[in-house]
Amino acid sequence: RVVSNAPASPNEEAIERALRPKLLDDYVGQVKAREQLEIFISAAKMRDEALDHVLLFGPPGLGKTTLSHIIAAELGVNLRQTSGPVLEKPKDLAALLTNLEKNDVLFIDEIHRLSPVVEEILYPALEDYKIDIMIGEGPAARSIKLDLQPFTLVGATTRAGMLTNPLRDRFGIVARLEFYTAQELARIVKRSAGLLKVPTDEKGGFEIARRSRGTPRIANRLLRRVRDYADVKGVGEITLDIANRALAMLDVDPQGFDLMDRKLLEAVIHRFDGGPVGLDNIAASIGEERETIEDVIEPYLIQQGYLQRTPRGRIATLAAYRHLGVTPPATQNG
Ligand code: ADP
Repeated sequence: RVVSNAPASPNEEAIERALRPKLLDDYVGQVKAREQLEIFISAAKMRDEALDHVLLFGPPGLGKTTLSHIIAAELGVNLRQTSGPVLEKPKDLAALLTNLEKNDVLFIDEIHRLSPVVEEILYPALEDYKIDIMIGEGPAARSIKLDLQPFTLVGATTRAGMLTNPLRDRFGIVARLEFYTAQELARIVKRSAGLLKVPTDEKGGFEIARRSRGTPRIANRLLRRVRDYADVKGVGEITLDIANRALAMLDVDPQGFDLMDRKLLEAVIHRFDGGPVGLDNIAASIGEERETIEDVIEPYLIQQGYLQRTPRGRIATLAAYRHLGVTPPATQNG
């Protein structure tokens, strides 16, 4: 995938870090989540208490990690960062928890991928700031209770529905991140272009924003690719013409869909008569993981009204037929 939706290399990650807004005021969009957090963070600070645990969910690249860093910065506390799959054993999590200082933030990315034994020790930690851990092995093994400092867990996941109920119930603040509007993304592109010192005119920047699948990570990535194009094929300035040519070269179509988006829509329309078709059939047909389709590809297609999710499977809408230049069957009424 030319425009995948995760950091591609350590270098890309470093650039992403550099482009990350540090404070709530610089965090564009997500008005609802931001308003909530502003109030709860201020209240926690006034009382010198740990902020309630926060669950952030939404597709990759919408700013969950960024927001967790901002929460810690606004609270004026340390942030410790880990992820569900990295925490293999209870003692991995126990080590992190016992090292937290008062009111610190622990960020667990992909929290739906915690193993059940690790999740188990998280419950009392979240509820009473206590953990029970086993020391030693065999007959000498015993469990000891440890007190923790008050802390805030910020959990991130692509879909809230993937969390177990007991875990989800322990978050006092739940925020769903939404796709960004083209106007919001244009502000992000403008800010990033400034940081990267690449001259970008209004229309060129907007074109990148408009074609970024509602996703800041993609906007920043396309901006860097278009900058490369502008440096080599132009005079280093991003204009509408340069953006159009670069995006065409990158296989990002006028709607902002990339190769995988089109592959998915084409499969549903041409191989499955427009649907309904099950996720597994789509996955096999386009050679992509089920999870990637559910988390990365289809949320945007659904939000834009090109695909519908029904109990019987996915259906291509009239907009999808139109987009691919295919005449819909007479019975198609999606
Ligand atoms: P997630 O954790 O949801 O996958 P990230 O927090 O890593 O997403 O965001 C990806 C990139 O997008 C970040 O490096 C950041 O530069 C940019 N970004 C995300 N959200 C915003 C925002 N609201 N305002 C400005 N930039 C953002």
